[in-house]
Amino acid sequence: MTVTDPTSPANFIERIIEEDLETNKYDGRVMTRFPPEPNGYLHIGHAKSICLNFGLAETYGGLCNLRFDDTNPTKEEVEYVESIKEDVRWLGFNWDDRLYYASDYFEQLHDYAVQLIKQGQAYVDSLSAEEIREYRGTLTEPGRKSPYRNRSVEENLSLFQSMRAGEFQNGVHVLRAKIDMASGNLNMRDPVMYRILHAEHHRTGDTWCIYPMYDWAHGLCDSIEKITHSICTLEFEDHRPLYEWFLKELGVYQPQQIEFARLNLSQTVMSKRKLLRLVKEGYVNGWDDPRMPTISGLRRRGYTPEAIRDFCERIGVARKDSMVDIKLLEWCVREDLNRRAPRIMGVLRPLRVVVENYPDDTVEELEAINNPEDSTMGTRMVPFSRVLYIERDDFREDPPKKWFRLAPGREVRLRYGYYITCVDVVKDEKTGEIIELRCTYDPATKGGWSPDGRKVRGTLHWVSAEHAIEAEVRLYDYLFIKPNPEEVEEGQDFISNVNPDSLEVLRSCSLEPSVGNAALGSGYQFERLGYFCLDPDSTGSKLIFNRTVTLRDTWAKIEKKMKQDK
Ligand code: ATP
Ligand code: MG
Repeated sequence: MTVTDPTSPANFIERIIEEDLETNKYDGRVMTRFPPEPNGYLHIGHAKSICLNFGLAETYGGLCNLRFDDTNPTKEEVEYVESIKEDVRWLGFNWDDRLYYASDYFEQLHDYAVQLIKQGQAYVDSLSAEEIREYRGTLTEPGRKSPYRNRSVEENLSLFQSMRAGEFQNGVHVLRAKIDMASGNLNMRDPVMYRILHAEHHRTGDTWCIYPMYDWAHGLCDSIEKITHSICTLEFEDHRPLYEWFLKELGVYQPQQIEFARLNLSQTVMSKRKLLRLVKEGYVNGWDDPRMPTISGLRRRGYTPEAIRDFCERIGVARKDSMVDIKLLEWCVREDLNRRAPRIMGVLRPLRVVVENYPDDTVEELEAINNPEDSTMGTRMVPFSRVLYIERDDFREDPPKKWFRLAPGREVRLRYGYYITCVDVVKDEKTGEIIELRCTYDPATKGGWSPDGRKVRGTLHWVSAEHAIEAEVRLYDYLFIKPNPEEVEEGQDFISNVNPDSLEVLRSCSLEPSVGNAALGSGYQFERLGYFCLDPDSTGSKLIFNRTVTLRDTWAKIEKKMKQDK
């Protein structure tokens, strides 16, 4: 057995596992699983569950299975299965040969149902779905027994057989557990185990026309796979008695179900049903739209697996629901990219600058540092010439107080370049728009410092016009305008909080030539602008970059405080 890092206090799940290891409850084994339903793409909430399940297995020398909970053929698709596998792998976890499907166990689950019928603990009910709901009662009223509840074992066996054989239409019968219609826990009021559904399943085809319900299938899958700790989110707490009842009455191996609080993140929604709506109704361009909280969206946006795992580690696990500030996630990605991303200069909204006293036929290669955080990343050469681009935002004709960037008559430093002074402003005659700045440079300030000790306050990024690579850059804002998108006016839903300005496309940005060989997904820091990565929409002749995150770091303070509190 490996022991956890003694410096980091164990969370409540780790404490349970450690105790079980001490008492040898499962012969010293730790076996967890990640059980997604393939009815959508994984999101950052799933990442928390993945990190937790695979992470615990790793910590305690155990194993974690990947199991598709594919019991609902009408909502599930192969596309989702494939994307889920890709996402788990990308996050850095490995299920080896332990890839399972609930549908692998359909025959076995059926046999267990027959066993419960034979034990007099399950019956075929012929009430309609509507009636079953009515008979179920409420939290304050006990349920009523179905008139079909006392069918004989023989009749139940025969009806269940006919259900399986396809002799009935959808909804005609269900198989229910016979537990307690007066139970204070609604889940124990004769829960449905099987329903008739004439639907093609993505793996079993038309072999089955009865499908197991979640509560029936889930615990049995856990039991069959000899899971030790079945970790799920809090809403299943009330299902635990049922989970345990099924396994106990069947006399099979019992894992321990443990619930933890699901991740809620500000400025976004997390349920797959809602994410599907955003996709279907065209608020985003697919599941992997960089604005989505899906793993594939975050990946495309330039988030790294390391940053996501770090985030999941930091938020920890709790027993109480809460909302995590999305700024923490952003902070994690900045931390990671700051360490690893090479710096380059890129101009998003180019303004032409002509350096009047710089020779027309000269190109200088100036040395630039790739990452001040990591000297092993070395330096690169950046071309400098007479015509440059700077950021439009870095020039003001009438500068306000404390403006340290460029303005008429002002001197600034070009990063890794020279000091330049603006001597004239050229405007479009018709529109009055500034189209060019005329500047002079001081040849003595090569490298960005002045031998006479003359100081400038502003340092601008720039690109040589002749050498620039033209690119499209996509800037993102939050997908929702409110921290909690569920906070809506009467009669509205979360869609009313969709941010109409969450995407800004800049079509003619100018980037330094070294990004010409950027690889998909690898992150860059565009100096002063944030972290960016190449988008898969790019083609050989047109590069497209996504802004992963800005450089603004409002979380730094919170992190400092978090460290103090520890
Ligand atoms: P959603 O409600 O988003 O549709 P789900 O719970 O239906 O999610 P599943 O595919 O059933 O999605 O989830 C697979 C695993 O991921 C489950 O164990 C579930 O508890 C966990 N999970 C889902 N959402 C979150 C979340 N927000 N935080 C933590 N774990 C989550
Ligand atoms: Mg689910």
